[in-house]
Amino acid sequence: MEKLRQFEKDSEICMYYECEPERFLGAVIPPTFGNSLFLYPSLEELGNAVKDETEHYVYWRGTNPTVEIAEKKLAALEQGEQCKCFASGMAAITAALFYSVKKGDHVVCVSHIYKSTVDILKYLQKFGVEYTVTQSTSPEEIEKEIQPNTKAIYIESPTDMTFKMVDFEKIAALAKERKIKTIADNTWATPLFQKPLSFGIDMVVHSASKYLGGHSDLVGGALITSSHIMKKLFKKEFLLFGGIMGPYEASLLLRGLRTLPMRMKAHEENAIKIAKFLEGHPKVARVNYPGHPSSEDQEIIKKQLLGFSGLLAFELKDASFKAVKAVINNLKIFKIGVSWGSFESLVMSPNYGYNTADLKKEQISEGLIRLSIGLESTDDLIRDLEQSLERI
Ligand code: PLP
Repeated sequence: MEKLRQFEKDSEICMYYECEPERFLGAVIPPTFGNSLFLYPSLEELGNAVKDETEHYVYWRGTNPTVEIAEKKLAALEQGEQCKCFASGMAAITAALFYSVKKGDHVVCVSHIYKSTVDILKYLQKFGVEYTVTQSTSPEEIEKEIQPNTKAIYIESPTDMTFKMVDFEKIAALAKERKIKTIADNTWATPLFQKPLSFGIDMVVHSASKYLGGHSDLVGGALITSSHIMKKLFKKEFLLFGGIMGPYEASLLLRGLRTLPMRMKAHEENAIKIAKFLEGHPKVARVNYPGHPSSEDQEIIKKQLLGFSGLLAFELKDASFKAVKAVINNLKIFKIGVSWGSFESLVMSPNYGYNTADLKKEQISEGLIRLSIGLESTDDLIRDLEQSLERI
């Protein structure tokens, strides 16, 4: 019941919060403010505004009224105090990491996170920041990797490709004891189905290019945190780095948010049925999806997730590249491509035939196929998978 009420409240935020028509001449949706700067009647008033660009509209790199509406909605959905939107998910992740560390610091990064995030940690080495990737997602394993100079723990839950859950509450507690900042990528669940800040996580990052946008026509990112952290981060990693979201992208994000609750319900319903079909298929070795009862993380799932999105993976019993490419290339409805979280069903594999050594090192099955379940008919999607699995 509580879960349902939360979902209804969040749906209201997605559609109407901060969009009161009386603020915008009765417009049913807020206008897109395309002006790059705002005018002031006197130098003194401009001087007062530039002192705090979070509270005043000065220049679009700082605060834009259209982007601000999306930021207020995302902050409310994540139950955080402040949000800033970025040019991409990677820009938001970079800002969170650069804010958290300085020369000589160390980052613990949970295993199987989005690969480019690990690449940013690698890049940070040139500024004297070290990192360790944990062997598993367990809090004990994460705790073991903490060093005296650890200043940040970076989490993605569920993890990339393996879809293992990470216990936010336990990790936030052990990090707080040691004054370590925690950052969680919440792109998979969206703020509708998981709220990391409510478990004590310090910063949440999103790629808005996935479900939040939802139509494969937007690249964007968001960072949600306390006012205390945002006050400092806004001036440096946001305003100075300049990787900000523009108002036209924000209007696409706002359009995506209006239908996010309904889309997420449909993605969830479709994906649960498809995971069940795959689990029972004789050519499938395992299904990686928190929405399927075979997931080992039931305790964390019950505590942490309010629902399941539509991104999952399965592993073929025949893990050869020949089998992987036969299944993928014979699919008709699933399109082959990167990214995920949109209306269209997508398929890919981290196995490109030339990188098996990397997959072994990363402990990812060579027979893994990732599906982003879209909004098409589930029966059609299952029929499509059925006929392509018959090819091997
Ligand atoms: N986080 C996750 C989990 C992702 O899958 C991605 C992109 O695929 C990103 C972050 C990066 O987001 P963007 O592509 O918007 O920079």
